[in-house]
Amino acid sequence: ERTVQRIAAGEVVERPASAVKELVENSLDADASRIDVAVEAGGTESIRVRDDGQGMNEVDVRAAVREHTTSKIDDVSDLEAGVATLGFRGEALHTIGAVARLTITTKPRGAEGAGTELVFVDGEVESVGPAGCPEGTTVEVTDLFFNTPARKKYLKTETTEFTHVNRVVTQYALANPDVAVSLEHDGREVFSTTGQGDLQSTILSVYGTDVATNMIAVDAEPAVGSEFPEGPLDGISGYVSHPETNRSTREYVSTFINGRYVTSGAAREAIMDAYDGQLGNGRYPFVVLDLSVPADTVDVNVHPRKMEVRFDDEAGFKRQLETAVEDALLEHGL
Ligand code: ADP
Ligand code: MG
Repeated sequence: ERTVQRIAAGEVVERPASAVKELVENSLDADASRIDVAVEAGGTESIRVRDDGQGMNEVDVRAAVREHTTSKIDDVSDLEAGVATLGFRGEALHTIGAVARLTITTKPRGAEGAGTELVFVDGEVESVGPAGCPEGTTVEVTDLFFNTPARKKYLKTETTEFTHVNRVVTQYALANPDVAVSLEHDGREVFSTTGQGDLQSTILSVYGTDVATNMIAVDAEPAVGSEFPEGPLDGISGYVSHPETNRSTREYVSTFINGRYVTSGAAREAIMDAYDGQLGNGRYPFVVLDLSVPADTVDVNVHPRKMEVRFDDEAGFKRQLETAVEDALLEHGL
């Protein structure tokens, strides 16, 4: 039974970046205003996510690693319900702890005295005890896949694993300009955002000055009398890059729906169409766009792990997005 559980867990926690994603989401759910992520060897040796969120007492933290404890969302189509929390399965910690060594150090906000440290290994609580720590929560994951050698073999090089980790943390940093997010790899800082609530300065922290200074603002809403096309979105805002001075051979397209990172083939196509060949062959723009859908929308679905979003009215969605980006470029004479 344990073996089956480990294999199942290995399917969910595919690689270090999947664990990082779950831990960062938990920190956001805990209302953190700063989240510090540090990984060693691309996350294959260790992952540490520290936050200044709500924290947990001993009872909470014991419950947090139990199986099926706290499903915040039962349905994969949580966007339909307009739910603000991000977690899907209600057992991310338990699942990570089935294929790794998990150390949680935590103290509730405003609590006096010591916090709690809980160690969870191979699906079992190994120890629980008091620990001196600040308010908030630190989760450390080591020995990932120590008990699932088949899964461990699938890990790519440290560089590749870190690329995935970096992408995940970058997306959450961009989606949450009001949260100070930092990323460290092998003791070196990769980026850190200020959490000042300003998307442009967050783009600067994450992508650097060259990219940030050449961004073009997008701000489209289907106002009465405007020519903004019909479709599932009720607003598009963010930044896209200048096609000549600000392009990349790699894809840096970040789209969020109601603040949550999603991927979308249709969105990528619509954005590339808006640039209409101006980027040149094999070149991509930097894009950070928040797409808002009404809270009661029923025609949007996201696959829980892949984060791929689909709209019933895909044609309308693409028209809206292409128009918004095109209009922004036109305003700059492009
Ligand atoms: P879910 O997030 O779907 O509830 P998880 O296994 O990811 O499932 O987390 C279980 C529970 O542990 C959460 O519901 C939350 O109560 C608690 N928890 C996890 N991480 C944190 C954190 N960083 N800060 C405070 N509480 C946390
Ligand atoms: Mg969670």
